[in-house]
Amino acid sequence: MTPEQILQQYFGYDSFRKGQDELIRAILSGQDVLGIMPTGAGKSICYQVPAMLLEGMTIVISPLISLMHDQVRALLENGIPAAYLNSSLDEETYRRTLAKVYSGEVRILYAAPERLETESFLRIAQDVRIAMVTVDEAHCVSQWGQDFRPSYMKIIEFLKRLPYRPILSAFTATATQEVAEDIVRILGLDHPYTLTTGFDRENLYFGVMQPRDKFATLLQLLREHEGEAGIVYCLTRKSVEAVTESLNENGIDARRYHAGLSDEERSRNQEDFLYDRVPVIVATNAFGMGIDKSNVSFVIHYNMPKNLESYYQEAGRAGRDGSRAECILLYGPGDVRTNQFMIDHSSDNDQLDEETRIRLREKEQERLKLMTFYCTRHECLRSYMLRYFGENTPNYCGNCSSCRTNYEKRDISVDALKIVSCIYRLHQRNLHFGTKAVIDVLRGSKAEKYEKFKFADTLSTYGIMQDVSEKQCREMIDYLLAENWITKGGEYSTLNLNRRSAQLLKERPALSMNVVKDEKPAPPSRRENGLPADVDEGLFAKLKAERAAISKREGVPAYIIFTDAALQDMARKKPVSDMAFLAVSGVGRVKLDKYGPRFLKVIQDYLAEK
Ligand code: ADP
Ligand code: ZN
Repeated sequence: MTPEQILQQYFGYDSFRKGQDELIRAILSGQDVLGIMPTGAGKSICYQVPAMLLEGMTIVISPLISLMHDQVRALLENGIPAAYLNSSLDEETYRRTLAKVYSGEVRILYAAPERLETESFLRIAQDVRIAMVTVDEAHCVSQWGQDFRPSYMKIIEFLKRLPYRPILSAFTATATQEVAEDIVRILGLDHPYTLTTGFDRENLYFGVMQPRDKFATLLQLLREHEGEAGIVYCLTRKSVEAVTESLNENGIDARRYHAGLSDEERSRNQEDFLYDRVPVIVATNAFGMGIDKSNVSFVIHYNMPKNLESYYQEAGRAGRDGSRAECILLYGPGDVRTNQFMIDHSSDNDQLDEETRIRLREKEQERLKLMTFYCTRHECLRSYMLRYFGENTPNYCGNCSSCRTNYEKRDISVDALKIVSCIYRLHQRNLHFGTKAVIDVLRGSKAEKYEKFKFADTLSTYGIMQDVSEKQCREMIDYLLAENWITKGGEYSTLNLNRRSAQLLKERPALSMNVVKDEKPAPPSRRENGLPADVDEGLFAKLKAERAAISKREGVPAYIIFTDAALQDMARKKPVSDMAFLAVSGVGRVKLDKYGPRFLKVIQDYLAEK
């Protein structure tokens, strides 16, 4: 069979997406590969299709048990013999799975990296022909990535102990050059065919809001998205608790998820979300890696995450099946402080030496700064993000809050001068203030804590921006930071001057920044029903109901039966024969046999009724 036939017969898709066939061809010719593709681009197909064609078994190393579980279930649904070995299996199941592996029945075997050093696993490696080892989430081997996992180091040992070298393929959604180089070097990929697809996810809308009342805004957004599935990310367990509780009090059905819950509650809440029994999950970043749920239609960040890698990964969980979806970040200056605190008090890398730790911390500091600029610079969010990941893009996308908001250029030459002079004068008096205090001084605050400095009598810059709102002052300071006219740092995040500040004071350049014309930007307009025009809405609803009924009866998450995208295609093509049903995107042979009759009946009934 050809790769195209496998794709059609097992997965029910007509054609490969950008990059998939190149990678597959490289693998089939025996070459190592490195695939760098954003979440939702379709990495799994890139190793699952060749796994069906190579002589021997493919081992997929994957960091999370929940991920394996779902992937294997989805493969089995498509008629592909797959299995997993991890610590969640009881002894009996483990033995049975091993037996299947030995009999050659299993084509794709998922395993956690910790498994690799066990005796039973090493024995498989000796006795069963392994055609390929695939490393999923390969960035976990890099200390410079955002989620380094020491257990990934075991992969190298494992490869060394194999009697021969299988094809090695690695996949990640993390794009920085540094991490990519690390993956190749650490895993020992041999002249890999490397493919980076664009990181843009066209179906995602990106928005940043800076609301005065975050909770009220969240509530409003959730009400606009009633009936849709979505994730709300918070930075801390405490805020997960508080937000979930308040949402429930306000009549929104939401569950919580963080590492502090019992295993039992965590997996129950996760399952309820996956199975569409609860629409909204409120979670820390502990939630999501390995969540393949394809019908998440919004991801709202209640707090700014620590870096853009995390943000893109978390936000990217929306719209995986290609339907339109929204990613909205609710920014507040307090988020910077919380992240700073977390960086300063992180104990993640305790095993590392002091020097490496310091370097890592500096990196995180830099990443946090660039994340903050995403929220404050008012430029096209998509292009900012893509440039961060090393792509060249136009400065306008038309589908983000910056591109959709009305901005005007405001001349801030004079104000900038005032701000920098004020910091300069304060430094002359050996006072090193943070943003808030500098604003207070500029606006002539009468707060008690400043009384002892007698600013009113002794500081020429005290109160020179009395007429400017605190928010506007902050925006300008953020701008000056972003453009490196001033810097921020030190233990107390104080504002500092650099060579450019001196230049600014001396040369007084003309500066202008984008400011929102309309002080209260409207939240992104509600998409009508989010469905493409040629999809029959009534039929789509009926198909969804059928899917929900099957999901409930058989205990399989709905999106594993059919994704929303597949149901939409069904509601577009309205097939009434087996052949026509096979032409629906996402319907392969096995799914035709298993689900065809029931969905065909729904379609026939619907058409008859009309
Ligand atoms: P990733 O691992 O890159 O995040 P997945 O492998 O989970 O992405 O794929 C995302 C979605 O895209 C899945 O629903 C998958 O079935 C679908 N998909 C992948 N390849 C194709 C294709 N060639 N045609 C249509 N849909 C595809
Ligand atoms: Zn844009």
